[in-house]
Amino acid sequence: MTSVLSDMIIDATENLYQTGILGLVLLDKDFNIVDSHGILVDWIDVGSPAVEVFPFLIGYDDEFEEIKSRKRESLLLPNVSFMADTSHGQKVFSIHLTARPSDDGLALLVQDATSVAAMEQKILQQRNELALAERALKKAKAAAEEANLEKSRFLTQMSHDLKTPMNAILGFSQLLETDMNIPLAPEHMECIGHIHRAGNHLLDIINGILDLARIESGKVSLNIQNLSIREILNDCLPIAKTLGEKRNIELIDNTRGRNFPLVRSDRTRLIQILLNFLSNGIKYNREGGSVVIDSHSTAMGKLRISVSDTGKGIAKHLFASIFQPFNRLGEENSMTEGTGVGLAIAKLLAERMEGEVGFESKVGEGSTFWIDLPVAGD
Ligand code: ADP
Repeated sequence: MTSVLSDMIIDATENLYQTGILGLVLLDKDFNIVDSHGILVDWIDVGSPAVEVFPFLIGYDDEFEEIKSRKRESLLLPNVSFMADTSHGQKVFSIHLTARPSDDGLALLVQDATSVAAMEQKILQQRNELALAERALKKAKAAAEEANLEKSRFLTQMSHDLKTPMNAILGFSQLLETDMNIPLAPEHMECIGHIHRAGNHLLDIINGILDLARIESGKVSLNIQNLSIREILNDCLPIAKTLGEKRNIELIDNTRGRNFPLVRSDRTRLIQILLNFLSNGIKYNREGGSVVIDSHSTAMGKLRISVSDTGKGIAKHLFASIFQPFNRLGEENSMTEGTGVGLAIAKLLAERMEGEVGFESKVGEGSTFWIDLPVAGD
């Protein structure tokens, strides 16, 4: 058998069940059967003339000659009846028969008409189901987006409503604390101190919610411009230094004296992100530890600004929760102040500035948080 024919047989047999093909029958130049493969046709005697097995082929001699001489591509005889041996005796099948040229003569492709029709029906049904699922998905997405917007609107409104009385509480407690005409008793002074600290913390949380809701709902407009990270760090580092000194933490700036390309970012928001990284590096550090600021180009062509600390690090099982708003990963039970929104805001902002934030951390060794920013002119 020629290689073309064996390839055809392999192809046809491989696809047998997927395509509804029940068999392949090969004819020589005189239209005698030389080979047959597949269910329904396995029993066919080699050597018999094709018209004896498939009587409906009678009358198509001209067409077959044309196929043999490659003047015609194929001939399809749809819905013809065919008697075949089965385990329940002889049965009549409705088939589609396609004649194609082969190296020596013809190849007859036998397809089950009922299974083809059933297959078409199934495809149609699947297509309908897919369209319905797609429509449901679109609807659910729109509903989820609307619900998210509604949530942001509610949070914004609620935060505004909370802010006014909160400012009054803070203002009046400060007044009581500093009023020299009616000085408070020491125990009352202590109470006022508690009110003041708790009030400030609450205000931080309210501001965090407000900021997060505004960024999430797309209400924050960013002023993206070309920025020198040197200038940005000159704004951030003195603040971080003061924070660090309180805990005896050394700030090491590895970017000093080096040149970096300008980055595309919003100035205020970049400072906010870096200050969050720096203050976390100090807050979650050990007494006497250090925080290192560094920068380099990434393989993706962005500029990375990183902040590494020598703190306690973050356990692997908490990695997935690190950018979740209000998730303080257990720190809520500690003395370390925070609201748990800084990193969530940093992530949202970085994405809106076509940047990306990331981190790596090892328990007992420390963590590195970074932001990758697009380089100007790219
Ligand atoms: P906050 O510091 O106000 O709690 P963040 O959103 O900045 O909120 O950080 C979320 C949480 O991630 C922190 O509460 C802390 O548990 C953890 N975290 C952030 N930075 C570090 C760090 N450098 N080292 C260890 N843990 C960190």
